Amino acid sequence: MSHIPDLEADCAACAALCCMALAFDAGEDFAIDKPAGLPCPNLDADLGCTLYSRLESAGFPGCARYDCTGAGQRMTQELFAGRSWRDEPALAEPMIAAFAQMRQVHRGIELLVAAGRLDLPGALEEEREELLIAHARTDWTRDSLDAFTTCGVSTRLAAFLHRLRDWV
Ligand code: SF4
Repeated sequence: MSHIPDLEADCAACAALCCMALAFDAGEDFAIDKPAGLPCPNLDADLGCTLYSRLESAGFPGCARYDCTGAGQRMTQELFAGRSWRDEPALAEPMIAAFAQMRQVHRGIELLVAAGRLDLPGALEEEREELLIAHARTDWTRDSLDAFTTCGVSTRLAAFLHRLRDWV
């Protein structure tokens, strides 16, 4: 039985990773350009957003819509013990890398849980369960996340999802 992590973002338990790690382009979703790896100028010293209550009217509807599916807080707490790149700038680079990897893991879990609601034939259901076990680990480390992104699971997941086209 796989352990499904919390897939709901908990920004209070995260080191504001989406506001630092991700890039955005000025346009309908974001009022400004921001390169990946630089903190958003609207981020305050305590890692809160100064525009939080008015993101849409201030020109940042993309932030209101963004959902890390729980990857941010999990990575911050489980892999970095609640530490922050703000207090320890040397953590920025490894946190950016681990955030990308954990987003991939959580996105995979989200898709595989959704696939579990389909009436899949036996072989496909077995494949779904195997892939879910590979994604829904409870013992992620920075090394195992590194290994995960190169071990071919993502390719298997993509092939599995492609095979679901007759059931959706
Ligand atoms: S506008 Fe606020 S929510 Fe959006 S990236 Fe900047 S600090 Fe984060």
